[in-house]
Amino acid sequence: MDTHNTSELRREDSRHHLHPFTDTKELNEKGCRIITKADGIYIYDADGHKILDAMAGLWCVNIGYGRQELVDAAAGQMQELPYYNNFFKTAHPPAIKLAKKLTELAPDHINHVFFTGSGSESNDTVVRMVRRYWQLQGKPEKTVIIGRQNGYHGSTVAGASLGGMAPMHQQGGPMLPDIEHIAQPYWFGEGREMDPQEFGLLAASSLEKKIQQLGVERVAAFIAEPVQGAGGVIIPPASYWPEIQRICDQHGILLIADEVICGFGRLGRWFGSQHFDIKPDLMPIAKGLSSGYLPIGGVLVGDRVADLLIDEGGEFYHGFTYSGHPSCAAVALRNIELLEQERVLEHVRDIAAPYFARRWAELASHPLVGEARSLGLLGALELVADKVTLSRFEPGIGGLCRDICFETGIVMRSVGETMVVSPPLVITEEEIDQLISLARASLDATARRLG
Ligand code: PLP
Repeated sequence: MDTHNTSELRREDSRHHLHPFTDTKELNEKGCRIITKADGIYIYDADGHKILDAMAGLWCVNIGYGRQELVDAAAGQMQELPYYNNFFKTAHPPAIKLAKKLTELAPDHINHVFFTGSGSESNDTVVRMVRRYWQLQGKPEKTVIIGRQNGYHGSTVAGASLGGMAPMHQQGGPMLPDIEHIAQPYWFGEGREMDPQEFGLLAASSLEKKIQQLGVERVAAFIAEPVQGAGGVIIPPASYWPEIQRICDQHGILLIADEVICGFGRLGRWFGSQHFDIKPDLMPIAKGLSSGYLPIGGVLVGDRVADLLIDEGGEFYHGFTYSGHPSCAAVALRNIELLEQERVLEHVRDIAAPYFARRWAELASHPLVGEARSLGLLGALELVADKVTLSRFEPGIGGLCRDICFETGIVMRSVGETMVVSPPLVITEEEIDQLISLARASLDATARRLG
């Protein structure tokens, strides 16, 4: 791409483009980085830089960039049937085949899927389905869904309400009613003085307390990500999920595992809930389902909910024009086939994740790092001003480090003062070595910038 064209594109971008999750005024002072192509685990910008994408886009390009098989799947489907819907007693082969495949991969008690176009739409669907379920149970007063502080479930009104991101709640008026939030299992940030397993139990006990406070007759469901991603790769202590499952079972409330990030191999299993051995009633999915090549999401629906909806629910007045879009479904199906044929989950479990865990942990020795944690191919570094007291920097250092990462040739994301990574699952040991060197170089440059 020639420079003239690039600066023209930047100008047009600042004139006309409102970016998601961006301070557009600040962006326009410098102009955006324009990404033009990608291959494997690397992206390339219009200024000729090659950058290791340690975020797999937005936690989604699980199979890596540049897969011709997915291009062919999209092109073939677009020639055959580019679009049709699944409303009003119709269906098409890609949606049917994908539904069958997904329910084969899911735990035994999950045999249905409702398709959407994104993770946020999946969580909107969750809210409608949960409330409909309790209405059909003859308990319409059970409307409250409990989520977690700092959880992320998307950006639509329902997604933002279920999530516990304070800045999102503060913008633009009231969120959905009847959504409550409990503490997150964030040991480094909120429980360091305790034994991690005791802290995990304490964090889980806030669900029990919330149910008691609200009255179980009002509580419909609990929603959480197996590992909180956008909140800063919060990996719960091992004691946490079994206790959450016990509380949900004891009170008969629905358990929803938001698998939008953890699904499709991120933790070395098809779903994060399989890693933690929990049994969710509903599992919203998106991202890795198509490795981000085309937009598609869904909700995997357990028998407890699906049977009632089907047997007694009549018409469910809910759906999207692009629910189960044939071209997107064909790409998702091919993506899953590739993950299977190339044994990508085994690669994560047996090779990439153990090697990544060992090398990532080495970054804990860096003067700016208070903790280096990982699970599967998710990693986080806690930036600290003082390695002994673990005191934090003033806000803003995470953003500085993220910008320096880009300059150094790696995409890492900052969540406050936590740096996070989520590389493509196909990453090799050699590429992990490179990721670690680039991360270390970025931390060194950040330390130098701080003087
Ligand atoms: N749920 C989780 C756990 C996510 O991480 C995200 C996006 O990051 C979403 C839902 C929303 O997905 P989308 O951006 O596709 O609407």
